[in-house]
Amino acid sequence: MIRACKVKLGRAPKQEAKLRRVLGLCCALYNAALQQRREAWQRQRVSLSFYEQCKELTQLRSDDDDYRNLPAQMTRVTVLHRLDKAFHGFFRRVKRGEKPGFPRFRSWERFDTLTFTTQDWHIDGKKLVLNVRKDPIVFQMRNTIYREGEIKGLRIVRGATRWWAHFLVDIGPAPTLKKSSTGVGIDVGLRTFATMSDGTQIEHPRFLRKSIDKLRESGQSVSHKRKGSRNRGKAKLVLARAHEKIANRRRNFIHQTVATLVKRYDGFAVEKLNVQEMSSTEHEPDEMTKKGARGLRRGIMDSGWTMFGTHLAAKAEEAGLPFVRVNPRGTSQRCSGCGSVVRKTLRDRTHYCAACGLVMDRDENAARNIYDLGRRSATGDARVEGAEVSSE
Ligand SMILES: [Zn+2]
Repeated sequence: MIRACKVKLGRAPKQEAKLRRVLGLCCALYNAALQQRREAWQRQRVSLSFYEQCKELTQLRSDDDDYRNLPAQMTRVTVLHRLDKAFHGFFRRVKRGEKPGFPRFRSWERFDTLTFTTQDWHIDGKKLVLNVRKDPIVFQMRNTIYREGEIKGLRIVRGATRWWAHFLVDIGPAPTLKKSSTGVGIDVGLRTFATMSDGTQIEHPRFLRKSIDKLRESGQSVSHKRKGSRNRGKAKLVLARAHEKIANRRRNFIHQTVATLVKRYDGFAVEKLNVQEMSSTEHEPDEMTKKGARGLRRGIMDSGWTMFGTHLAAKAEEAGLPFVRVNPRGTSQRCSGCGSVVRKTLRDRTHYCAACGLVMDRDENAARNIYDLGRRSATGDARVEGAEVSSE
């Protein structure tokens, strides 16, 4: 099992400037390589391969001092491999008959990660050294690598206000899967963060409302300042800090929630999330009248649900507990008691089944259906459509 272990890097303006330069070079190369692939495709309908572009990179490195100084393997993985993955995703979707957009150019602001394998860096006491040729980049590590195991890779990430090192640690094989006796189905939504098939509910974290006010305030402050002015720069930093604070609190909330769940239950069925769909219709509550607040809240929780799912999957795997993702289609309309379809609008908060008389909270009914789908797919019932055992 590979797990990321985040280490805070100490402040060092000179080293940060060097890193920004490396990121800039990688970003420029990414866009150039993307351009090359687009042209090859549009003009001659040929698709350039990763290996062809690697050869070109070798050529570039022999011609250009800046690129020669960058660690070769890091550049390949950060730029060409990432681009290759984007194209694989693109062609996979084309094959499926979808109409995906071409992989897009990256702006400098959104290019924020350098990926290293096991080479081109080392640790020296409390220092992390990135072996850029001639001029190594050195950072103090503010906390230790708290995961035990073999380090398989390293990502250097530019956060809103500081830099991070994410070590990818192999923490050993997953324990054998236990048999579940107190499994649970989980329905997530905008009204209640999560509803369990046993009726337990987890509310949205309290900080959400306050944070949204703060976000809106800082956002307005940015838009009221003149573009390019010093004050606008400052306001932007305040906004970035507000975002970072929310991200931290959201992460804490999710980690705590998941820790509680893994103690209480020994098997999990979760809906396969399609965040876009989820935000638009099914899960949208009706009483949230303030449009702005709704948008922000949704934006914050969209990534929260995704993070919740992946974190729960990871923790379940570490504990040897079954974790299943199921297709949520129909789970809110079907009766968990008898299987009849009970049509509901978004306003209907209660499930009332005329066929069998079952009356219960709408989300709890959905969670029970999710649990049922999960349980059947875990026991290999082939009739379950769309359920799959996840091995994240
Ligand atoms: Zn029923």
